[in-house]
Amino acid sequence: MIFRDYAKNPAEKYALLGMGCMRLPTIPGTQEPDPVKSEEIIDYAYAHGVNYFDSAYVYMGGKSEVVMGNALRKYPRESFHVASKLPGWNLKSRADAERIFNETMERLNLGYIDFYLCHGINEGSVDAFTDPAVGVIPFLEQMKAEGKIKHLGFSSHAKPETLRRFASLRDWDFAQIQMNYLDWEISTTREEYEILEELGIPTVVMEPVRGGRLATLTPETDAMLKALEPDRSIASWAFRFLMDKPNLMVILSGMSNMEQVMDNVRTFDECGPLSEKEKAVLKEAVDKFRSSVTVPCTGCRYCCDDCPMQIDIPKVMSIYNDYGVNRSPRELSQLDELTTGPKDCVGCGSCAHHCPQNIDIPALMKKIAAIER
Ligand code: SF4
Ligand code: SF4
Repeated sequence: MIFRDYAKNPAEKYALLGMGCMRLPTIPGTQEPDPVKSEEIIDYAYAHGVNYFDSAYVYMGGKSEVVMGNALRKYPRESFHVASKLPGWNLKSRADAERIFNETMERLNLGYIDFYLCHGINEGSVDAFTDPAVGVIPFLEQMKAEGKIKHLGFSSHAKPETLRRFASLRDWDFAQIQMNYLDWEISTTREEYEILEELGIPTVVMEPVRGGRLATLTPETDAMLKALEPDRSIASWAFRFLMDKPNLMVILSGMSNMEQVMDNVRTFDECGPLSEKEKAVLKEAVDKFRSSVTVPCTGCRYCCDDCPMQIDIPKVMSIYNDYGVNRSPRELSQLDELTTGPKDCVGCGSCAHHCPQNIDIPALMKKIAAIER
């Protein structure tokens, strides 16, 4: 297992692989965590050096905290670290924060919480955390002063400017952001990482395998990676991509079964960061993957003026690209919010003449309209 020193106190050491408990094994036919199977995978991870276990008040209807706490309680308290999170979306008062925090303390039943986070800062929730009239942060600071919280931080899905603003509010002990090689290329992940690094805030990674999306890409790109590392999983590339980032303290993986836990432990036992050659091959694979599941629309809107059906073509392209990358038919539900969409296309072709990217827009409209969802 790879261990990292906690930058704010090198006496603290964390396994670089952390266990996310938001997708614990479930009881068949329900969304409830299976306590026996969950304990088995938590025990395996613990036995192989994992010492950071992450949950949240809202995970698995509140049962994740309970199951995680029950599984870990048999071990010496100082030998593992638990994280949980305070949701910001319904916080109206300090009393709300107090109630949720106390409930988490009861569910975990571990005496104190090692890492406590303001959960999922974004443009919509940030005010609830920062509003002095609500007083969430002073309350959390008080809990820390009383020893109920050991490290105080936040997780973020915010844009970089909001992240910087929130991260600069106080001397946070850590922060958690979504980071993986695909978002590094297509999203603001690199900028977010660099903001936290610049501010000296040790970073915990969530979604290193992008909710499982990077466990397999396309047959062609998987083959490129397998040719270099035939005995390693495709998911292992996602972890290894992150291993050379010095400001990371823990890379959380939401593990759902023993096979995943064993594969992840093996990656962190046996592998190091990607070599320069492997990085180049991964970049090539990501580029190929993107070009096979997305269209190169730049949003210039040259195609829009002559469309008799007034379809917002670049918006449709953007939705299709999200669908391609995430492979989730749910992304396409955004099409229903458009006044006119692919189903209204009459195939006149006047848009395609204007497209500098040579996208066959009428054919694509037909294809999108036919996707089952
Ligand atoms: S082909 Fe479809 S999208 Fe393009 S201009 Fe005609 S109706 Fe609009
Ligand atoms: S003209 Fe082509 S690149 Fe420009 S917005 Fe339309 S589809 Fe996209």
